[in-house]
Amino acid sequence: MWNRKVKMFWMNHWVKILIIFGVVTLVSLAIVGLLSLESYYLHMTLAQLPLTLLMGAIHALIFAYVIISMQTGTLLKLKKAPIKSENVNATFDDVKGIDEAKKEALEVVELIKDRTRIKKIGGKIIRGLLMIGPPGCGKTLLAKAIAKESGIPFISMAASEFVEIFVGMGASRVRKLFKKARRLAYGYGACIIFIDEIDAIGRGRTYSFMGGGETNTTQNQLLVEMDGLKEREENIIIIGATNAPESILDKALLRPGRFDRKIYIDRPGLEGREELFHHYLRKVEHDPSIDISRLARNTVYKSAADIENIVKEAALIATRKSKEHVEWEDFSQAMDRIDMGIKHKRKLNERERKMTAYHETGHLIVLYILHPTDDVFKASIASRGGALGAVLHQPREELFTTSKEQALANIKVCLGGYVAENLKFSTTTTGVADDFKKAMAHAHAMVWKFGMGSNDYLGDYSIIPESQISNELKQKLNQETQEILQKCYQEVENLLKKEWTIMERFVSELLEKEELEYDEIEAIFAEYGKNNQKGKQEATITAPMNRDCTKPL
Ligand code: ZN
Repeated sequence: MWNRKVKMFWMNHWVKILIIFGVVTLVSLAIVGLLSLESYYLHMTLAQLPLTLLMGAIHALIFAYVIISMQTGTLLKLKKAPIKSENVNATFDDVKGIDEAKKEALEVVELIKDRTRIKKIGGKIIRGLLMIGPPGCGKTLLAKAIAKESGIPFISMAASEFVEIFVGMGASRVRKLFKKARRLAYGYGACIIFIDEIDAIGRGRTYSFMGGGETNTTQNQLLVEMDGLKEREENIIIIGATNAPESILDKALLRPGRFDRKIYIDRPGLEGREELFHHYLRKVEHDPSIDISRLARNTVYKSAADIENIVKEAALIATRKSKEHVEWEDFSQAMDRIDMGIKHKRKLNERERKMTAYHETGHLIVLYILHPTDDVFKASIASRGGALGAVLHQPREELFTTSKEQALANIKVCLGGYVAENLKFSTTTTGVADDFKKAMAHAHAMVWKFGMGSNDYLGDYSIIPESQISNELKQKLNQETQEILQKCYQEVENLLKKEWTIMERFVSELLEKEELEYDEIEAIFAEYGKNNQKGKQEATITAPMNRDCTKPL
């Protein structure tokens, strides 16, 4: 029995026993060794001992640093948590183009100011506010405006700063942030904490045997702090901002008493963009005849930051040309440059250049005459990035769905380049690669997903696992897809044949001028009795479909 217990003890602890034995032996040997030294050497050795220990410790630290650096792949930086407290000078007047969100934010300000009154009547006090929307649309600005308008201090931090490789670092930064906020709230009566990119720590927590990752502990700390505010009745409001969809965030964050109030901030609409252009143009010398509503129309789906960028870029271009003020031409160039990159001189041989001109004109004519919702605003055969030319178009207004007619028109526009090449040169080039990819994607989705083929096949077949779709059905669906493309091809061919005079005209204009602007395009179509009276169609899905018709190398 005893024997077994000793054996078991040995089996459980043999590593420790060996280490202890080794250390004891080494220390005894060292002591014996030291004692046998003559007193002079003994003193010298003892004197060196602290230094030796210190050096050992330093070496160990360097070793650990190198190992961690190698594991994480970057040189380790121990940053101090940058909590920014700012003298906020943004007001609601500076927030442009997002009127709906502004209204809601003003309401929040009222609630913050009226806290005592709300408490008296038993209303709900705001603790957490979540701003959701695409980047560059003014979330930070709006948060600052709330602080300024409510007259309370504002501290901010990006959530990505919380995320560190050391476990517990994130949580301690959250603690520090709230500590600072509490101090400010004590001094000024209230405080706003702004946490940008909150999704960096707010993602759904993962549960695993090991207890999840650093994000979890950081988020837990945030939740603890937020709940603490409720208990202590502290006057601190937390504003979180994110570009990520709400569904990514952990449910716990959205519970009552936490981020239970949301403001959705979307890209500015037409009026919003006009307001933004007015605002930014006030800061630069510009040609007073510039049509601002046209600028706004040409920038569908752009954010406030994009618009600021366009104005700055246009001013820069004008300065480079040593002009007195910014003109339309500069804006046009600025938009091209931001969307497509800088023009570069690529020497095309005569035939290729001509082919590009026919190709782009093919897109242009189909777009202008057949497309129900899109307006063309530039045609170009100047090389930019990977494209030899482009026809830029955009819906006249924001659309959130795509109709069948529109989807068909998109396909036809894509095929326009191919058809034009074929009609003129009786051959085609690989320059249609991108066009075909898009045309195919549209036709495929129409049949497989949206029931927009012949009405024989309804439903979204893409959600059925491939193994469960019979080969026969697949064949039929693909057949339908091909039929759509063929039909579109036929229509485009008929159209281009019919309008061949206009085709030749545009080709010669493009070859001569390289780029045609909206006005020039419009004028030429008008000469041939075509005017751009697009009925405003009930609109429609797709992400922005501009730059559809670039011609890759
Ligand atoms: Zn093309």
